[in-house]
Amino acid sequence: MVYRMPAMQSGSGASTAGSSSSQDSSSHVRVVQNRPKPRCWEHGCNGRQFSTFSNLLRHQREKSGQAAKATCPNCGAEFTRTTARNGHLLHDKCKQRRST
Ligand SMILES: [Zn+2]
Ligand SMILES: [Zn+2]
Repeated sequence: MVYRMPAMQSGSGASTAGSSSSQDSSSHVRVVQNRPKPRCWEHGCNGRQFSTFSNLLRHQREKSGQAAKATCPNCGAEFTRTTARNGHLLHDKCKQRRST
C-alpha cells in the first residue's frame, strides 16, 4: 500500500534565522546527504563535536560507564580525577616513552 503525499509547499521558503534556539521544535529526523558532525549534548558537553560517529559512541559509553575516571591520552593511564590526569600530563609522567 503506497500513499503518495502531494508536494505541498505552503509558505515560500522562509529563511531560517541564525539564532540557535535550544527548542527542539522539529522532533522528526531528517535525512540529509551531508550529515553534520555528531555532537554530544549530554554530560555538559554543550554540543561538543566529534569527527566520527563512533567517536561519539565511545565518548558516550565512557561517560555512561565510568563517569569519574580520566585517562591519559598518551599512555592510557587511568585516574580517578581529571586533576590528577592533568598533573600527570603536566609533569609528563607517562608510562610509555614517546619516541618522537
Ligand atoms: Zn558528552
Ligand atoms: Zn600518560
